[in-house]
Amino acid sequence: MDAAALEREGLAAVASAATPEELDGVRVEYLGRKSTLKLALRDVRDRESGLELNAIRERLEEAVEAREDELRSAVLDRRLTEEVLDVTLPGEERHLGTLHPTTLTRRVIEDAFLGLGYEVIDDREVETVHYNFDQLAFGPAHPSRSHRDTFFLDPERLLRTETSPSQIHVMEAKKPPIYMVSLGRVYRRDEITATRFPIFHQFEGLAVDRNITLADLKGTLLHVMRTLFGEHRQVRFRTHYFPFTEPSLEPDVSCPICEMEGCRTCKYTGWIELGGAGMVDPRVFSNVGIDPEEWTGFAFGCGIERAAQLRHGIPEIRPFWENDLRVLRQF
Ligand SMILES: [Zn+2]
Repeated sequence: MDAAALEREGLAAVASAATPEELDGVRVEYLGRKSTLKLALRDVRDRESGLELNAIRERLEEAVEAREDELRSAVLDRRLTEEVLDVTLPGEERHLGTLHPTTLTRRVIEDAFLGLGYEVIDDREVETVHYNFDQLAFGPAHPSRSHRDTFFLDPERLLRTETSPSQIHVMEAKKPPIYMVSLGRVYRRDEITATRFPIFHQFEGLAVDRNITLADLKGTLLHVMRTLFGEHRQVRFRTHYFPFTEPSLEPDVSCPICEMEGCRTCKYTGWIELGGAGMVDPRVFSNVGIDPEEWTGFAFGCGIERAAQLRHGIPEIRPFWENDLRVLRQF
């Protein structure tokens, strides 16, 4: 073997390697275990040729290392010029999940009641006729009892039509004084329209204590409405009829959209109807074993979507159930 020729050939190969991969190939060919040089070193017989071959090996190794450094920095240089990061380009927008407007409004309502010392209840959605109608003093011929208005699972069980059965469960389980608010889904057989949907959310408050009056009801509603719709809201009552309250009232809240100037949402009256309210009928107390001579109370309920519509100026109820991200991302 011509050692000098081998060295020249090896050095030339190292110099012409254009990429780190090519250089690896050269390293294996000239310095690898089966390379001519390694095989010659293994067979070497005299000290002189051993020294010479080792010197060639060292020079080749140095050349490979030097070339390796060159190629690495060349690769780096190329990447630095090719992969330019333009910090002035607009970033890639990522959407974080947001809470549903119903959930947002529900939490505002919960906070308002928690601030008043109320207990927050999340009750069952499948109810019995007994709790959904009988205990709430719905007459035997009340239209809500029909299959046309209510989703029955069997003759005795149904999807609750309001959150009011929670009041009965709580009054059966606890002694007064009671301050509770129940929030959750309710179901009614309604055609889907701009303002109606067969599922919606309600919140319903109940207070039972000694000497509770309409003034307490009005003060509580005022607090909740102001928390929901702003500090300047007013509340007024119109008489109405509900089975489980006497007297029964429909609260109106001053229109948060037009500040009582008159707009389409409030039908140019300056007031918005918002749920139902009233003093708890003594018969309801008697049904659950609370003495109506000693205790009085009020109850009121309202749709949560309705409140969310007013808070966020959403004209229809349908978007609340359509899961359209273009809509939901606005909250
Ligand atoms: Zn208005």
